[in-house]
Amino acid sequence: MKIIRAAALGMCFGVRDALQITNGVSEPSQVTIHGELVHNRKVNERLSKAGFRQTPEDKRHETIQTPRVLITAHGISQVERQRLADAGKEVIDTTCPLVVQVHKAALELQAEGRHILLIGKAGHVEVQGVVEDLDSFDVIESAKQVRSYPSESLGIVCQTTMPSDTVTEVCTHIQLHNPLANIRFIDTVCDPTKRRQRAMAELLQQVDAMVVVGGHNSNNTRRLVELCHEKLTPVVHVEDASELEFAWFDDVAVVGLTAGTSTLDETVDGVQQVLEKIAASQKEQGSLA
Ligand code: SF4
Repeated sequence: MKIIRAAALGMCFGVRDALQITNGVSEPSQVTIHGELVHNRKVNERLSKAGFRQTPEDKRHETIQTPRVLITAHGISQVERQRLADAGKEVIDTTCPLVVQVHKAALELQAEGRHILLIGKAGHVEVQGVVEDLDSFDVIESAKQVRSYPSESLGIVCQTTMPSDTVTEVCTHIQLHNPLANIRFIDTVCDPTKRRQRAMAELLQQVDAMVVVGGHNSNNTRRLVELCHEKLTPVVHVEDASELEFAWFDDVAVVGLTAGTSTLDETVDGVQQVLEKIAASQKEQGSLA
């Protein structure tokens, strides 16, 4: 079995920087992480062990007991920032600069009097952070949800991790359903996401199966898996090497390896090592060259 690693995969600079800031925090027991720093069980367990408190993502608006609060790379709204300031909390901010661009784009379009259409996953923390500051908006996850909007002026932005194909399809439907509207679109899908999507598309043309590494609750990892389903490529989604099953690869000649943006390098390397062991054992048995 041949193993091909995606040209761009795994942890993005935004998550890497957030982790680095977090590792440098003194007295972690005095800090509450506002939601999950990354959608990665291993990382979150390490943070708990270090003493950080972590607020579940659906309880982020509840009272925080520690004097300091760490904002994750996904960012928060100005409304939430003010709530924390009013409560006297010191903020450690690891918001990714590319998420800040989404906030800026949405507010710019709102200042032009537009109804905002955010292409993204409703309820996702990044999306919540953006829409909490908006007066008039809809969140659209897929083209099926697009309708005619009661506004002559529409502004479109995207969650940073949306697949560009979905964004294009949704934009086309918005235009079709709102032929008279003045529409302005700002593409806020981040570059690391675009590079990973392109690498994935190239990889899918070369392999007959895929391994995707990342948290089962990671949105961008699940999207990589969905992309495999769309291209009818058999795929296995694992959080780490321990979830790989040798038998799954019995008839696989070329396997591709990729990972979500919250996956640690060591986890991807661990999966690759096990795939190499599987390939070596197949060679020994003479099942595949
Ligand atoms: Fe930043 Fe993009 Fe990574 Fe999100 S996925 S943290 S926007 S680089």
